[in-house]
Amino acid sequence: MQSHFIGGEWVASSTGQTLPVLDPSTGLAFDEIARGTAADVDRAVAAARAALDGPWGRMTATERGRILSKMSELILARHEELSLLEARDTGKPMSQARNDITVAARYCEYYGGAADKLHGEQIPYLNDFHVVVLHEPYGVTAHILPWNYPAQMFGRSVVPALAVGNATVLKPSEDACLTPLAFCRIAAEAGLPAGALNVVTGLGEEAGHALTHHGDINFISFTGSPEVGTMVQKAGAERTLKVVLELGGKSPQIVFDDANLERAATFVIKAITQNAGQTCSAGSRLMVQRGVHDRFVAMVVEKFRQSAAGTPAMDRDCGPLINAAQQRRVQGYVDRAIASGIPLLAQGVVAEGVPEGGFYMPPTLFGPVPRDHALACEEVFGPVLAIIPFDDEEDAVRLANATDFGLIAGIWTADGGRQIRMARRMKCGQVYLNCYGAGGGVELPFGGVKKSGHGREKGFMAMEEFCTVKTVVQYYGS
Ligand code: NAD
Repeated sequence: MQSHFIGGEWVASSTGQTLPVLDPSTGLAFDEIARGTAADVDRAVAAARAALDGPWGRMTATERGRILSKMSELILARHEELSLLEARDTGKPMSQARNDITVAARYCEYYGGAADKLHGEQIPYLNDFHVVVLHEPYGVTAHILPWNYPAQMFGRSVVPALAVGNATVLKPSEDACLTPLAFCRIAAEAGLPAGALNVVTGLGEEAGHALTHHGDINFISFTGSPEVGTMVQKAGAERTLKVVLELGGKSPQIVFDDANLERAATFVIKAITQNAGQTCSAGSRLMVQRGVHDRFVAMVVEKFRQSAAGTPAMDRDCGPLINAAQQRRVQGYVDRAIASGIPLLAQGVVAEGVPEGGFYMPPTLFGPVPRDHALACEEVFGPVLAIIPFDDEEDAVRLANATDFGLIAGIWTADGGRQIRMARRMKCGQVYLNCYGAGGGVELPFGGVKKSGHGREKGFMAMEEFCTVKTVVQYYGS
């Protein structure tokens, strides 16, 4: 049974209510979390506010950085235990869970080292004036996270906010939140003062709503669906809060005739099977130039046929989807595509021996998919890939930018000039040339345009994102 972490203590929900934690690979409950209320959120925000006036608020940047670096060491010391927990909570294959824990530790290492490197500025101004620009924490920052990468998301959103001195309140997803809770224990052991990090678990419409509408928060970082992100932005607008939104995607993989097809095919399959396609930056549209279309599609078909979904311990291409609702949603896209006559080119398998109640879904390949079909435009959030042929560079640009989203793009071509032309014309936040993947990329600024959101996390830029700037003008003449 898991409690909230508030003011350095483990506390039950004010109502005593709990929610079950399901293992997606079996469909069975194996733990419980506290079902957070507005009163719990009040308590967490008050604890964060108090921390800013206490030892946490008085710490130097170097001291904050040392605590985060210590967290990194402690996470790595418990790497296997945390990987097993992440795999059980999310269903992902063990090797992916292990990578996620490594990345979470890397966030702590990166921002631990960066904490005292965020320098202000001195601006030349009028005679007898001294002007400095200070970076200061916002105060109490609220963090709402999804279920797909709980450990990585903690590192990406909460850790840079702490590095610059904010006090944080996190509402992780009700569907997967065990590693963020484990990180609270680790943070306390690393010496993080009480109240700097608070976690309230529970439902979005209860604890999440209460947090984003709370009158004493100063900043919101939201990662999740565009629908909820829009609600969160409205809540922030009521109190003119800064809101960073990391939302969904429909990212294209664009394969030109002159691409290294073998390399591209390997990345294409990984980019849609990783985390069973439940990745904001999943490469869910495969655009193939007509000259290599048939040859390349045959290679991808072969890889799909060899792919499988299995339990975390089986460590196949995918695990199960997160829950029954997500399984129904993804199956609905597949059924509608088949009903509308889209050719189903290949399907992987669900491995033999998986438990009956798990939420499995084999990797599935459709093509050619008409450009206006739901599979070509909407975020499926499952291991379903849509192939769309294109003619030339102009056509590729038009098609790549044709969805409401703009998160990342992968471009496969040997032509150096075309690589840069394409990269510059993509309407998105990251472009990968002859490679693909935002999974780790701790150092690389990440975020979207259009319905994929705004603001940037990851990299040094996140330090600035979680700070406000104050200009101090001093007259020193007599
Ligand atoms: P979701 O929007 O349903 O939930 C995200 C979080 O918001 C959860 O913690 C949930 O409890 C909370 N929430 C729900 N309703 C709320 C409300 N009314 N007020 C406040 N909080 C509320 O998203 P999900 O299903 O957990 O995750 C999948 C989505 O997240 C996909 O669209 C995916 O693309 C996106 N995502 C984006 C990124 C990115 O970096 N761009 C990363 C991961 C996931």
